[in-house]
Amino acid sequence: MTEKKRIVSGMRPTGALHLGNLHGALQNWINMQPDYDCFFFIADWHALTSDYENPGNIKKYTRNMMIDWLAAGLDPEKSVLFVQSRIREHAELFLLLSMITPVPWLERNPTYKEQIDALQNKDLSTFGFLGYPVLQAADIIIYKAEGVPVGIDQAPHIELTREIARRFNHLYGRVFPEPDTILTEISKILGTDRRKMSKSYSNAIFLSDSPEQIRKKVSQMITDPQRIKRTDPGDPSVCNVFTFHQLYSPTDLVAQVDPDCRSAKIGCVECKKKMAEHLVAYLSPIRDKIEYYKNHTDQVEQVMAEGSDKARQVAAKTLAEVRDAVRI
Ligand code: SF4
Repeated sequence: MTEKKRIVSGMRPTGALHLGNLHGALQNWINMQPDYDCFFFIADWHALTSDYENPGNIKKYTRNMMIDWLAAGLDPEKSVLFVQSRIREHAELFLLLSMITPVPWLERNPTYKEQIDALQNKDLSTFGFLGYPVLQAADIIIYKAEGVPVGIDQAPHIELTREIARRFNHLYGRVFPEPDTILTEISKILGTDRRKMSKSYSNAIFLSDSPEQIRKKVSQMITDPQRIKRTDPGDPSVCNVFTFHQLYSPTDLVAQVDPDCRSAKIGCVECKKKMAEHLVAYLSPIRDKIEYYKNHTDQVEQVMAEGSDKARQVAAKTLAEVRDAVRI
């Protein structure tokens, strides 16, 4: 039997998951479960790097994120699902890696300056924020991950992780494999206003939204901007509603909407209503499971505790090797 390749990836607990998160990361993770040795964690310490002034929601968001994960299809029988802050070994490895990571490597990180510019309302001139790629490296290599599934925007961080692992191995002897970047497909769906779907833009459809909320949000979606009047022909290739149809509606409906839109046979109101019902049906089993876990939080706690125990055993073993290598 060939051993499965180990992968590690995490998500910051920043609130309820939306369709962009589902199609951008979570669905990929779910699909990888049968073929990989999967470690998935909720990065609550990472949430602190930017939200250290208001940490009050992180615990609640962590539990809700695990609920969303379980409801969407991550399976604790197939993957190790855990919470970063429960594995103190990450912090010790972060400290040791911070000794060997040159500051210019962190300053040249492309997302560092971008984030500082984007989050002007927060003071991010902290050691923790500059150093979060080092914590990320510790999160990954402590499990001797061979691959990290990430979106293209995170690829430079994985490159930095590889450089840090290489530097450690060079200084102290080989302990860590250099993990490969496994690029995940970028979600094509946009928010209801055609910008990137994001909680902070108030344009997101959440996995936990009720049918009424979904119908209302869909009714407000921006369609083909050139289609002003009902009699104007539309172009499905530039319409976000059509992208949703392609994901959630049956193929015969998708095949029908395309020519009907181009010939103005169908109006946007009717088109959205049809799509909304398929989206409601798609999310219905996920929403039911979210409700179930919200009423059985003891089971969610158990998943987090057992997953964290499994992760800790692996992390502790690596850290023993690390201490030997560093001779400390
Ligand atoms: Fe988009 Fe449908 Fe309107 Fe065409 S008819 S522009 S696909 S919402």
